[in-house]
Amino acid sequence: MGKLSGKTALVTGSSRGIGRATAVALAREGALVAVHYARNEQAAKETVQLIEKDGGRALTVHAELGVPGDIDQLFRGLEDGLKQHTGRTTLDILVNNAAASTSSPLAPEDVSVEEFDRMFAANAKAPFFVTQRALGLIPDGGRIINMSSALTRVANPSQVVYSMSKGAIEQLTLHLARHLAPREITVNTVAPGVTDNGQEFWKIPEVREQMSRTTAFKRLGAPQDIATVVAFIATDEARWITGAFIDTSGGTLLG
Ligand code: NAP
Repeated sequence: MGKLSGKTALVTGSSRGIGRATAVALAREGALVAVHYARNEQAAKETVQLIEKDGGRALTVHAELGVPGDIDQLFRGLEDGLKQHTGRTTLDILVNNAAASTSSPLAPEDVSVEEFDRMFAANAKAPFFVTQRALGLIPDGGRIINMSSALTRVANPSQVVYSMSKGAIEQLTLHLARHLAPREITVNTVAPGVTDNGQEFWKIPEVREQMSRTTAFKRLGAPQDIATVVAFIATDEARWITGAFIDTSGGTLLG
């Protein structure tokens, strides 16, 4: 019996990277995981295959977040999938992980209104309304985990809009932790630092070397480094932690 046996989870953006590792970690503890993706269906199916190979259970859910109709589409797929697998629509664990990132660093002077709106739609507005809708499905004792970034704690002008959008999700944690405490639903922020999510960017030797130097351990984070923390927060053992900012940056913020 895993620590999450009988539980259900939605991990947004779990086709790849940290989300995929999180989906695998939750399933390893016995949760049935809804693997959400925006565009890359094949990658989402691979996440499900990884989970099933491990003896776990998972399903895919598709919805681009931050566009009109996103929440309805996500929850139609989620509720259908949960009903098929469990006969109910109970969602015990929500991980707001999906996020848009800056494709290339931009000086604050060069940020367009369109770029600002895209970032906030995916990283702030979508998690808020995903959470709002999920509240109807999450039972007492449930878990909400919001993925932020260590970038909300250091100045990096070329990532100002991304960091602002991550600041917003940390506010979601703060206020909902208070709001949902009477139901013993915990709400926490997990904040990764530089993490090799498998994208081409991280394969460039100079990038790896330079970024590795920013962590206390002098290596890049691996998705699993973050996923095991999320899985712990999802268990009953973490029931006394709510409203927390959990630094999973490998000591980057030590300076
Ligand atoms: P990633 O590898 O780029 O994967 C992003 C995931 O989010 C994919 O599953 C993608 O789906 C989905 N996604 C992206 N935009 C979406 C949208 N508009 N609507 C719906 N889904 C969308 O990401 P990651 O690096 O693992 O990051 C995961 C989380 O950690 C994010 O919140 C990120 O901000 C945070 N973080 C990452 C790092 C890092 O160094 N990697 C550092 C700090 C914080 P598709 O595959 O379908 O496109």
